Amino acid sequence: MARREGNERRRIGIMGGTFDPIHHGHLVAASEVQSWFDLDEVIFVPTGEPWQKADREVSPAEHRYLMTVIATAANPRFEVSRVDIDRSGLTYTIDTLRELTALHPDADLYFITGADAMAALLTWQDHEELFELAHFVGCTRPGHELTDVTLEGLPRDRITLVEIPALTISSTDCRHRVARGEPVWYLVPDGVVQYIGKHELYSKDSA
Ligand code: ATP
Ligand code: MG
Repeated sequence: MARREGNERRRIGIMGGTFDPIHHGHLVAASEVQSWFDLDEVIFVPTGEPWQKADREVSPAEHRYLMTVIATAANPRFEVSRVDIDRSGLTYTIDTLRELTALHPDADLYFITGADAMAALLTWQDHEELFELAHFVGCTRPGHELTDVTLEGLPRDRITLVEIPALTISSTDCRHRVARGEPVWYLVPDGVVQYIGKHELYSKDSA
């Protein structure tokens, strides 16, 4: 990709997620989009209280935050933000984007989602303002189709679909594997495997 002029605006990717736990599907998606759009950095933003997941107990935010820090520490373009976990109440993407826009007025924001989360955009509130605040990047995800029907009614000039190498990894599967005593090595970064073991996350009672 061509180098940019010094006076061009910075480009920041925003990867929101529950990250319970963070896995290589998240990291590959963020890395692909970083390279595709020549992003200066990608900020991972663990959710506070995820309203879409009211049906199950989500691990404490500090655990999810620390696992995200461990997983991203080695990449100089990856950062982790506490904006969502430090805001009280439920997490809404519109609040995340408003807050990050205020913190980075010199940057264009690229909100990175998997196909399933992109489909859920249709049900999010204030979607007009969402698309003013960020460009949306929808990543392919095995088992979730992104079609023109899914995107109907959304501003196509503010959405890019990106094919990433298919990784059928989900946090749900990782939690279930830990609960069954099966390995999660190589599905999540080594430090995250060790963190899960040290804090006994996802044991049978909590999965
Ligand atoms: P859970 O199973 O608990 O819902 P998850 O694996 O879907 O977890 P989330 O924290 O919900 O992980 O996802 C954060 C973001 O990462 C979402 O936009 C989601 O679509 C995307 N994502 C998650 N896994 C993948 C994957 N394997 N490939 C591409 N995108 C993914
Ligand atoms: Mg999910």
